[in-house]
Amino acid sequence: MSLLVVGSVAFDALETPYGKIERTLGGAATYFSIAASSFTHVNLVGVVGDDFTEQDRAVFKGRRIDISGLERAEGKTFFWSGRYGLDPNERVTLVTDLNVFATFRPKLPESFRNSRHVFLANIDPTLQRSVLEQIKTRPKLVALDTMNYWIEGAPKELRAILKATDILMINDAETRMLSSEHNLLRAARHIFSMGPRTLIIKRGEHGALMVDSRGVFAVPAFPLEQVFDPTGAGDSFAGGFMGYLASSKSMSDAVLRRAMVYGSVMGSFAVEQFGLERLRKVTRREINARARHFVKLTQFRL
Ligand code: AMP
Repeated sequence: MSLLVVGSVAFDALETPYGKIERTLGGAATYFSIAASSFTHVNLVGVVGDDFTEQDRAVFKGRRIDISGLERAEGKTFFWSGRYGLDPNERVTLVTDLNVFATFRPKLPESFRNSRHVFLANIDPTLQRSVLEQIKTRPKLVALDTMNYWIEGAPKELRAILKATDILMINDAETRMLSSEHNLLRAARHIFSMGPRTLIIKRGEHGALMVDSRGVFAVPAFPLEQVFDPTGAGDSFAGGFMGYLASSKSMSDAVLRRAMVYGSVMGSFAVEQFGLERLRKVTRREINARARHFVKLTQFRL
């Protein structure tokens, strides 16, 4: 039941049609761990700079998140800035300042080295590999996220880590880029030959697809009147998905399908307010109620 995540902990500056925020705690590992901690215990590995305050640290407190793997280095925390238009699927990255992330070499505390479930968030594939190498016995499940930057810039390194990946979770543009196939099902088949046996394609407001040897499962995004801030939706989806899986005894098709729904549920909470505001406050009761809504949302008779 131990879930490990390695990835960015960041300060984000965000601009959406509904407002603007100059500096808020973000990062893939942050969204992931907050979302997953509603389901299970999470061990977080990442790095922050000397501008990371007690107030920032407090975001992780009182939750099932162990941040003993959150290193503090001299310099500034990773900074990312993005702008969204009315289409939440379209975002413009304005600034990416790696700062302390540039020289980060993940070191797993001894107690993290027996992790059974691992999520390698979007970072340099060489670092993703070094995390796996520090784990003593092959985890039950390794899931990985990546982006166009690594698909184009470090294809060999990415291929190497994909061989050790069970579930690849990327968006549709990344799926097409990695496979050189436009059709997503053909793309999935191509990606299976690289290592993963399951591909999860995150499609923002169009939901997500899970493709494996058994076929395809589709989950919608929860219909919201206002997508306030799409930041972190993908990582919160991954957190809900992996958190639910890590808390389940089996990895049957039924469990995987439910994990997809919990992923979509957590993604939908993440986008309701700026940054982590909504996700931090969500209760298990609200999560369950929204999951039940998905049953209604997708039920029909023939
Ligand atoms: P998502 O919206 O789920 O794709 O992830 C948004 C989060 O990813 C933001 O909070 C950013 O801080 C973080 N992020 C953006 N670019 C990168 C990058 N190149 N490497 C790692 N994390 C990033």
